[in-house]
Amino acid sequence: MRIGLYPGSFDPVTMGHVDIVRRAARLIDRMVIAIGAHHSKGPFFTEEERVALASESLSPVAGDLGIELEVMVYDGLTVEAARSVGATVVFRGLRDAGDFDYEMQMAGMNAALAPEIETVFLAASPGTRHIAASLVRQIAAMGGDVSPFVPEPVNLALARKLAP
Ligand code: ADP
Repeated sequence: MRIGLYPGSFDPVTMGHVDIVRRAARLIDRMVIAIGAHHSKGPFFTEEERVALASESLSPVAGDLGIELEVMVYDGLTVEAARSVGATVVFRGLRDAGDFDYEMQMAGMNAALAPEIETVFLAASPGTRHIAASLVRQIAAMGGDVSPFVPEPVNLALARKLAP
């Protein structure tokens, strides 16, 4: 069984993340979504909320594609999270040159720390490459409609969280 780890903040899950999971599913049998706790980052959604939203949004996608999906929280090195679940592949999405520079450096460091784990980059799809969780949060906070950018459970959670 091939296990892949998809690490990130997922604050919250967007259609960009859904796209990556969908396409990564062709390469693996089990996907582990690893949500970074990174307390210093001051997330918008709590750890518990991000786990629930990722699970609600991504489990049906994985089910449709015939792979297993698990959502975990981690607080240390991504390569250690990968080792702890038996993942041999780490997936990251690339949207633009900013992502590329950062991700190349990260992949290099991770390869030095854990040579047995391969980082696989998936190029963002044209229909979703403009989507960033940070922009979704900003637009929602200013009353904009973010329903095209996020799965329905996230759209509802944003509306609930931002309700006066
Ligand atoms: P991080 O804080 O680790 O960047 P994110 O949740 O923002 O966490 O992103 C997790 C991963 O998903 C990253 O590899 C990021 O590049 C990728 N990603 C985010 N949005 C998109 C998108 N719209 N299309 C493709 N990949 C994306």
